[in-house]
Amino acid sequence: MDVIVIGGGPAGMMAAWAAAMEGAAVCLWERNARLGRKLAITGKGRCNITNQCEIEELVRHIPGNGSFLYGAFSRFSPQDIMDFFARAGVPVKVERGRRVFPQSDKAADVVNAMTQALRDAGVTVAYERRAKSLRIQDGAVQGVVDGQGRFFPASRVIVACGGASYPATGSTGDGYRLAEDAGHTVIPPQPSLAPLTTVETWPEQVMGLSLKNVRLKAEKEGKLLGEEFGEMLFTHFGISGPIVLTLSRPVIEAGGAGVRLYLDLKPALRPEQLRRRLDRDLQKFCRRQLQNGMDDLLPASLIPVFLGLSGVDVHKPCNQLTREERQTLALLMKAIPLTVQGCRPLAEAIVTKGGVRVDQVSPKTMESKLAQGLYFAGEVLDVDGYTGGYNLQIAWSSGYVAGQAAGRSME
Ligand SMILES: Cc1cc2nc3c(=O)[nH]c(=O)nc-3n(C[C@H](O)[C@H](O)[C@H](O)COP(=O)(O)OP(=O)(O)OC[C@H]3O[C@@H](n4cnc5c(N)ncnc54)[C@H](O)[C@@H]3O)c2cc1C
Repeated sequence: MDVIVIGGGPAGMMAAWAAAMEGAAVCLWERNARLGRKLAITGKGRCNITNQCEIEELVRHIPGNGSFLYGAFSRFSPQDIMDFFARAGVPVKVERGRRVFPQSDKAADVVNAMTQALRDAGVTVAYERRAKSLRIQDGAVQGVVDGQGRFFPASRVIVACGGASYPATGSTGDGYRLAEDAGHTVIPPQPSLAPLTTVETWPEQVMGLSLKNVRLKAEKEGKLLGEEFGEMLFTHFGISGPIVLTLSRPVIEAGGAGVRLYLDLKPALRPEQLRRRLDRDLQKFCRRQLQNGMDDLLPASLIPVFLGLSGVDVHKPCNQLTREERQTLALLMKAIPLTVQGCRPLAEAIVTKGGVRVDQVSPKTMESKLAQGLYFAGEVLDVDGYTGGYNLQIAWSSGYVAGQAAGRSME
């Protein structure tokens, strides 16, 4: 075999395809009985394939070593992957925030199209074959040893085992051990894009409630760490959902515990506008008790929690609230405080921060600078992006570049 690709996720599948398109004999190893288990659950089963943006913008949304990928993105861009899937019979659509999804809204279609493309390109897939170690001699890769101790020779090996999050999908950090076999330094894996646990326990009371069009701000010692607008979710441990996941990266980087969060339930209204809106509602429901007078402003399950936090008597008739009480409610609606306790473990993170150190890898070819013929692609590298399709674009672009370089070097 010319090229062995380890890992049948998006990076490995793309690498195997690109190497085969260069005429190389390629075998793709996947430890599971099927390809792309994580890919199949991306984007809540819809697969946010990429983000339709310029390369500078891509790099800006990849806080973990985005600039290392500049060349890879230029060689295989968001438009290239959109064209790839269109040709493979999976036309795409662009949604809010330039997020790209299959028109069918089915991640399974993306997995199936990749599987078919591999078949068409003549790639052999070895299912349920787990790479255990690499054999390196005189600074060059010789092949791979599997879980049963069998040696498979190959002069080109691409490690695309993913990170260490969602281990049930097969990504258990094997790639880090393989990289270390070859002398690579691995930056310790940590959760990135992870749900946050809060000191306050009230989120549990509204567990399952999802809020759309809200703004969440994170601060540490008065310094703004980040601010996001969109959708979030309350859980039994704290908070999750797209804007929380995105904010979690700077929050974790700032140490997590103690970071203050402020939730603006009405970001479209300036404080004085909200105050007028509140007054109108209290007037409309003047005969009701306060606990029954917020129906037009807040989701029903949030009202008792919100009023509990405000300290205003919930039994008071709406038309008897003092000026200060109305001001308290309006201010709270613009900034409900929460305190970060920490983040959920790596296993629950959307992506892994850390991995194979990028300065030991060529950005042009993804080849190791330490072992000839060894390549890396995807999340196994120390690269990570925000939500919005950026992480899959990392996989497609780095996989393509690694596969093409490995395949071409066989000529
Ligand atoms: C719930 C969830 C939703 C997500 N949604 C999105 C989204 O919509 N858009 C987006 O851009 N990103 C999303 N991501 C992130 C994205 O899925 C990953 O960044 C991406 O899958 C990484 O691709 P990869 O090929 O590097 O690794 P993986 O997808 O993790 O694939 C690695 C593969 O290698 C195999 N493997 C591991 N070790 C071995 C071994 N020793 N031998 C053989 N095979 C091995 C694994 O079984 C696995 O199939 C999401 C992640 C999660 C967890």
